[in-house]
Amino acid sequence: MILEHQPIKMPAFLNGQAKKLLIDGKWVDAKSGRTFESINPSTGKQLDSLAWGGPEDIDLAVAAARRAFEGPWSKFTPNERHKVLLRLAELVEQRSAELALLDTVDMGGPLAITNWVMGMTVDTFRYNASRALNIHGETLSNSLPISALSYTLREPVGVVGGIIPWNGPVFNACWKIAPVLASGCTLVLKCAEQAALSPLLLGELCLEAGVPPGVINVVTGFGDAGAALAEHMDVDKVAFTGSTETGQKIVRASAGNLKRLTMELGGKSPDIVFADANLDAAVPGAAMGIFGNSGQACLAGSRLFVERPVYEEFTEKVAAFANSLKIGDPTKLDTMIGPVVSKEQMERISGYLQAGVAEGAKAISGGERVTEGELADGYFIPPTTFVGVEDSMSIAKEEIFGPVVSAIPFDDVDEVITRANATPYGLASGVWTSNVDKAMKVSRSLRAGTVWVNSYSLMDPGVPFGGYKMSGYGMESGPHHVEEYLHTKAVWIAHS
Ligand code: ADP
Repeated sequence: MILEHQPIKMPAFLNGQAKKLLIDGKWVDAKSGRTFESINPSTGKQLDSLAWGGPEDIDLAVAAARRAFEGPWSKFTPNERHKVLLRLAELVEQRSAELALLDTVDMGGPLAITNWVMGMTVDTFRYNASRALNIHGETLSNSLPISALSYTLREPVGVVGGIIPWNGPVFNACWKIAPVLASGCTLVLKCAEQAALSPLLLGELCLEAGVPPGVINVVTGFGDAGAALAEHMDVDKVAFTGSTETGQKIVRASAGNLKRLTMELGGKSPDIVFADANLDAAVPGAAMGIFGNSGQACLAGSRLFVERPVYEEFTEKVAAFANSLKIGDPTKLDTMIGPVVSKEQMERISGYLQAGVAEGAKAISGGERVTEGELADGYFIPPTTFVGVEDSMSIAKEEIFGPVVSAIPFDDVDEVITRANATPYGLASGVWTSNVDKAMKVSRSLRAGTVWVNSYSLMDPGVPFGGYKMSGYGMESGPHHVEEYLHTKAVWIAHS
């Protein structure tokens, strides 16, 4: 199972029994009876077995979600949904260490990161508990010549299909479950095939918290299960987090019944460092903005634009910082760089490392996967800093989803704004400067859903997150999150 030398106690959820699907409050096998392996990326060895859910399991889960939506769950008052979310937050907090460790062994994120993510997860459930109490319409004036009252009601959109990736299983699941519970919707959650354990445990905790059976269903499986959800005529909305390519397929598949959609997709985010910035803060900030979670984050600041006078000094410091990050067993608390999630992902990233060199860039840290020593069996890629990068290179244009930063020099503000925006993506961005005018100009001009000034990767349950352009649409987190799960109904009452 996990690396042998380490003393850490495995999560109780890994009890040696194959995991099942959670449908209608019961743990059931996939209709096909098939299972597939979940792999520990630190060792390349099997961690657990998961039920191989397919379209017929999705049908059952959607039917259960519909029954729950129209049945017991519809009777829950806002106050009851608020209490359920608070209970869930409590249970998740109690099991935080286990959930963090599950993600660590399942997808390789170091405990230092997965523990931090658990804090965000608990806070997100609590934040959404408060949102459950704050759903309200408006009374609107009208100019009709008759006497008529017009107002709006907010109503849950119905059955939601949540489709999530592997890069932050517990948090991605939370971003679907929390607004569903706050709004009164029901959910069929399709986890990623690479990492599904913590979402399954979250499903169990929902039941323990008093969420009625059928409100939260969790299905493990591959893309065909996700596709079945996206095209299902009895699903009212899909909330998807994943690649832009798969997002496009989901948009097309959802057309049959014109589902509501929230799309949180890929990115190739610019992080811009001006020469007047506090470089001591910018070096670790920019480095962790890309190397954190081994670059497996949609918001990763993968295009590092550095003003020419400090380009060499800054990139050397980033490379030195990268080399100082401890790479290895992610279950050790001082590890900063764990493995990437899978062999396939490791090979994909390695392809970009080779392409970068072939196109003329130079790696001044990292550059090759680890092939020797005790990490050789796992999927380890050291944090890589490419210099001499040009905008036209594939490493500067395509989302690598690995610990690879492309450092690009620039000469002035308008030029860097144009170049930073010259991407089909628009998820996140960063600006490092001590000049407030520059900070305001750049943050207004970047076409991205988030701009961090003198920081990177700051997140809070109260602040929205979402994309521009091909990074998607709709907001998650913050007050807008639950809005994505609500219809607005206009009511007119004429009276004489
Ligand atoms: P990645 O390439 O990083 O694995 P994807 O966007 O392909 O990311 O996957 C994210 C989620 O989308 C996973 O749960 C995956 O199973 C699911 N998925 C893959 N293909 C499809 C599809 N055609 N329709 C719906 N969901 C899909």
